[in-house]
Amino acid sequence: MSMHVAVIGSGIAGVTFAEEILKLERQLYVTLLTREKCGYYSRPLLSHGFSRGDIETKIVLKSFAALVAADIAVESGAEVLRLDRSSKTLHFRKNGIETPLSYDKVVLATGSDALIPPPFRAQASLFNVLNSLEDLVKLRRQREKILSRHPRPRWAVIGGGLIGCEISADLSKAGDEVVLFHALPRLMERQLVEEDSVNLLGVLRDKLGIEVLLDKAVRGFSGSEMDLSVNLESETVQGFHGIIVACGFRPRIELAIEAGLETRRGIVVDEFLTSTSDHDVYAIGDSAELPDGKLYAYVTPVRGQGLWLAKHILGQDDQAWQVPSFKPKAKIPGFEAVAGYLF
Ligand SMILES: Cc1cc2nc3c(=O)[nH]c(=O)nc-3n(C[C@H](O)[C@H](O)[C@H](O)COP(=O)(O)OP(=O)(O)OC[C@H]3O[C@@H](n4cnc5c(N)ncnc54)[C@H](O)[C@@H]3O)c2cc1C
Repeated sequence: MSMHVAVIGSGIAGVTFAEEILKLERQLYVTLLTREKCGYYSRPLLSHGFSRGDIETKIVLKSFAALVAADIAVESGAEVLRLDRSSKTLHFRKNGIETPLSYDKVVLATGSDALIPPPFRAQASLFNVLNSLEDLVKLRRQREKILSRHPRPRWAVIGGGLIGCEISADLSKAGDEVVLFHALPRLMERQLVEEDSVNLLGVLRDKLGIEVLLDKAVRGFSGSEMDLSVNLESETVQGFHGIIVACGFRPRIELAIEAGLETRRGIVVDEFLTSTSDHDVYAIGDSAELPDGKLYAYVTPVRGQGLWLAKHILGQDDQAWQVPSFKPKAKIPGFEAVAGYLF
């Protein structure tokens, strides 16, 4: 009987892996399970979600029907609830019905959520995040509603990391007013040297007209729909129509924890992307933590993991996964990092 590989997640990690393994070996049964309903889409394009009118359709790279045509059994709109490693069965819920599915190998490509700092968690109705296509659709509807009442939406973006800076730039490009709050004294401090942070600040302030407030730790939010305030330690900045929190990412590791797999920040894998707790379980993409303690949460290494793992599972590559050379780049018009990006 041919091997059954179950893949959880339809981001770049899961889809790359599923397509590649079937390309290399036709005599396999591959099931891709995902809670998504709209197809496989480009997450990097989310950062152009406000300035591009056609984004909601252009962002979809492949329909699920196209993956089915490539012989992948797709369970979309399906939430994987748990993994029973002793019986090699996963359980998923779709249309209210819970179904077991047995596997020989399972690939956890569960990606990441937006990180919400603990003080904000009780105030979820006052802000949004931009982490998925569903978030973008929701934010675009919110922006339409604001525009129906105000000629120029005014946003607070919380977090001056890569994604917060990109979202601010895109909102500004779309014509909106943006105030960007960052808790630290310089922007994108994890990816840029100090000189480039200063250059980025100049681009955001002078070229894109964004008000950047550095060294401002946000404590929480107040107000109500379209009249929102950002609360700092000793002052309140008022008058926002919308708030977007962009404070980093959090790997989705709940399934792995519940299944008793080793996890730290991500699902712990060895240099063969194999769970350190179970040789029939693999993790790739934003949710995988490599032996160097890193999560390679950029499309080039994530795609590389998917391609490599397909070969490895088929016995066609027994060398450890190597990090490809890759150059992350902030999608901010007018900004170039002179010293490159740190990782
Ligand atoms: C706004 C934004 C901009 C970005 N820009 C760039 C960029 O310019 N360059 C770059 O290199 N990287 C960028 N990134 C990072 C890059 O997009 C990620 O590294 C990459 O998408 C990770 O892919 P993934 O497949 O691991 O995870 P994801 O894309 O998160 O996919 C995981 C999938 O698993 C599904 N899933 C999870 N748990 C379950 C479950 N229990 N049941 C069913 N389904 C489940 C999710 O619904 C999702 O479809 C950006 C990210 C964001 C959010």
